[in-house]
Amino acid sequence: MDIKFYVCFRMKRRLYFKDFFFIPGKVRSFIMCCLCGKRRVVYCKEPLSRQQITDIEEVQDSLFYTCGSTLFPTGHRYHETIVVKYGLECTAEMETTYYAGITTKFQPVCFFCGNTEVDSTSQTVQDLRKNYSIVRPICRQCMSNGIQPKVRIALKLNKK
Ligand SMILES: [Zn+2]
Ligand SMILES: [Zn+2]
Repeated sequence: MDIKFYVCFRMKRRLYFKDFFFIPGKVRSFIMCCLCGKRRVVYCKEPLSRQQITDIEEVQDSLFYTCGSTLFPTGHRYHETIVVKYGLECTAEMETTYYAGITTKFQPVCFFCGNTEVDSTSQTVQDLRKNYSIVRPICRQCMSNGIQPKVRIALKLNKK
């Protein structure tokens, strides 16, 4: 096989694999960044064992996790199997998978800042809910800063 083609194929497969990892069906837990306090989604192919949950809690307690770092250091037994998304920055919004977990449902937090006190009763949110199938949670603070809730998939495209 042509070596170039082979390398390309390998890389593509690896990229595909990485994308495939960060999907709702593999959402298992979350870890809080010790700098910005946002919850970052923890992914694993299999449901977490008690030992694995304990190990994640230890990372949380030791305040080692910040956005963009790996959950477990290289060489750790779960380094490759239990992961958080790579390349996250503290300024990055919540991952949409946080809200889409299939086996795990988390408390809604503000899509922009991660605040747990979300405002779901405001008129703006109510109105958006009528027109969009997905309205990401938002907190009062972000609303008063003039940020509009993030929405997806318009239900009625033609009608007002
Ligand atoms: Zn952070
Ligand atoms: Zn907020």
